[in-house]
Amino acid sequence: MSRFIFFTGGVVSSLGKGIAAASLGRLLKSRGISVSIQKLDPYINTDAGTMNPYQHGEVFVTEDGAETDLDLGHYERFIDENLTRLHNVTTGQIYGAVIEQERRGAYLGGTVQVIPHITNEIKDRIKQVALQSQAEVCIIEVGGTVGDIESLPFLEAIRQFRHDVGDDHVMYVHLTLVPHLGAPDELKTKPTQHSVRELRAIGITPDAIICRAEYPLTQDIKEKIALFCDVKRSAVVQSRDAQSIYQVPLNLEAEGLAEAVCQKFNLGDRPLDLDEWRSMVRRIARPKERVRIALVGKYVELKDAYISINEALGHAAVAHHAAVDIVRIDSETLEERGVELLTGVSGILVAPGFGARGIKGKLLAIRHARENRIPFLGICYGMQLACVEFARNVCGLENAHTTEVEPETPHPVIDFMENQRNLKVMGGTMRLGAYPCSLEPGSLAHRTYGQLEISERHRHRFEFNNAYREIFERKGLRFSGHYRAAGLVEIIELPSHPWFLGTQAHPEFKSRPTRPAPLYAGFVEAALAHARTAASDTGLAHERTA
Ligand code: GLN
Repeated sequence: MSRFIFFTGGVVSSLGKGIAAASLGRLLKSRGISVSIQKLDPYINTDAGTMNPYQHGEVFVTEDGAETDLDLGHYERFIDENLTRLHNVTTGQIYGAVIEQERRGAYLGGTVQVIPHITNEIKDRIKQVALQSQAEVCIIEVGGTVGDIESLPFLEAIRQFRHDVGDDHVMYVHLTLVPHLGAPDELKTKPTQHSVRELRAIGITPDAIICRAEYPLTQDIKEKIALFCDVKRSAVVQSRDAQSIYQVPLNLEAEGLAEAVCQKFNLGDRPLDLDEWRSMVRRIARPKERVRIALVGKYVELKDAYISINEALGHAAVAHHAAVDIVRIDSETLEERGVELLTGVSGILVAPGFGARGIKGKLLAIRHARENRIPFLGICYGMQLACVEFARNVCGLENAHTTEVEPETPHPVIDFMENQRNLKVMGGTMRLGAYPCSLEPGSLAHRTYGQLEISERHRHRFEFNNAYREIFERKGLRFSGHYRAAGLVEIIELPSHPWFLGTQAHPEFKSRPTRPAPLYAGFVEAALAHARTAASDTGLAHERTA
């Protein structure tokens, strides 16, 4: 039977609970222990799919097409396993399921209540992950902060869980903040004590405490926390602010977190192999080259809006012993101030998106990349707008557009699929999840992937309109990837350009720190080459003027 580790957070939000949980997952996996991770989100939305990035950062998409919390992205990247829709549970799903059963008559005669009906439904979903994944250890992160009204049913469910499966199969890990006060120059443990007290009032006693702190925790402080919170001294660990999130597992390993888990679960002494991970982290810290890449989007000021894209660029750079300096360019600002904002970048990535806001800036960026032979990667909306730009400026199709923005355009080069046309339901109805794609032999896409049949994850409603295929091809655009079963264009490229490619999919969702997504790896490689030529050109120019 699986063991279960429940992660809760206290004191403040945004402590990096997802990364801590994912890091522990990595440390267990690196000991040869199979792991799975699940997130319980207390909000009432059925999934993250209908929330905008201001609300919730990026929407992460799984292979099976679930629109999930971005923490699932961290989990996949850290434990290097694909997760499914079972791995992100929300209050909305739980209540939805219970109410549906009530209407079907499953509880005839009874009063439907939070305890036991809601808590049972929560526990069932946790057990389903254990059953489906057959993992030795399941890590379950409870979203929110202890003390929130919304998360109470989840906390009650995880409290009961220990009762159901036995103390030796359950572990509670609490993540808190140990703030530093400048004037007395002290780290303060009181917020941690209060947070643990709150947790214990609900009936959960943590087995381990992870303290986020800017400064090293002394032995004294750790002992104090152990004593006041009734936790073993060896199970009070620190998570210091790290340069790279991928450093966090190494820090937690040094603090003995995974060891505390193995002890608690009697997993014995398993040999640890973190070599590949360590060398990846070392490469991040010591890049041999740097390259500036513009990320053009309308949410660039939000840290979490394009998290998988940022990570994928980073993974790609690491594979080339390089680092990417991402120049965040707000597409509306680009619209106002022009392409000067793109000066000095060696690659341009146009981000996914929805709606009309900021698209003029994106179109400018695409044209700039195309005309100046700067490596370009268009992701989803970025690919669709590359088609719009090509239609207007190369094919001469005036006012060509996507019907998402201009339903009456004379040239709907990007249009609805029939099955999306009269849609009344917005949640979960896009083309979602993994779809196969066949590549054209010899194309840039084929060379970059190194194989002809690939699969990537999707999240969109609109598609390239095949009525325009012929003219696009005649004008020099190559359709190099196809979802043959539905006759859909997946990848476009410009053979006359050093590296210009747009994909309808989101390859960033499958990128892993030690296994970058091929298109990102190829794009960054092209950007590095562009940067080197640009550098030697300026060198030549200097020589000439000297
Ligand atoms: N808005 C576009 C569509 O729905 C693109 C979506 C995206 O970039 N993920 O098709």
